[in-house]
Amino acid sequence: MDSYDLLIVGGGIGGSALATVMARSGKSVLLLEKSEAYEDKVRGEWLASWGVAEAKRLGLYDILMAAGGHHVTRHVSYDESLEPKAAEAFAVPLGAFAQGVPGPLCLRHPIHCQALFDAAKAASAEALRGVNVLEVAAGYSSARPATRASGPSPRPSWPARKRCRRRSLARPFAPVCWRVERAPREN
Ligand SMILES: Cc1cc2nc3c(=O)[nH]c(=O)nc-3n(C[C@H](O)[C@H](O)[C@H](O)COP(=O)(O)OP(=O)(O)OC[C@H]3O[C@@H](n4cnc5c(N)ncnc54)[C@H](O)[C@@H]3O)c2cc1C
Repeated sequence: MDSYDLLIVGGGIGGSALATVMARSGKSVLLLEKSEAYEDKVRGEWLASWGVAEAKRLGLYDILMAAGGHHVTRHVSYDESLEPKAAEAFAVPLGAFAQGVPGPLCLRHPIHCQALFDAAKAASAEALRGVNVLEVAAGYSSARPATRASGPSPRPSWPARKRCRRRSLARPFAPVCWRVERAPREN
């Protein structure tokens, strides 16, 4: 397909969640993710209670739980000056921050991303890996790319030109072009 309702650059938690929800609502979605595999980063491992409530509202909660998500139901401040039992006596319950949510949801970052990326595909988004988006710019694509419409050359020499693909949104409003290359493999 050459035209889409929505182009999403980056299939992390945010991009993949958006792609899933929009594709489920009937929009044609192109989701482009640079990495071939999600890295194990300390990032987005802990979804706050109000985020869990949003995930439920968006129909994403079951996906996260099926991928291994679990709730943290209390907060304990352990300290070298306190016996563990004494610290636990002052545990703060975490179920009070959002109705029907027992506490924050924890899930390893790469699993979280992959679960949502797979959900986007299952919802019929075109979801591609190993695609590095180099530019996104307003305008229709043409022989002369809209991204360089004001430049001096009608055939700009892009560094990765041979591997580039250009697409335009065939919509009367807010057309955009984008330029991509195959992302270099990470060691
Ligand atoms: C150390 C750290 C810890 C954090 N811990 C938490 C936490 O516990 N809870 C929480 O809610 N938030 C946490 N955050 C914030 C966290 O970053 C976000 O919640 C979440 O990861 C944001 O998701 P995202 O999809 O917006 O961005 P990202 O996770 O950054 O995803 C962006 C994606 O875009 C891709 N991409 C980038 N450039 C391109 C390109 N040119 N072309 C194609 N693809 C591209 C990347 O490969 C990546 O997959 C933390 C942040 C940091 C830095």
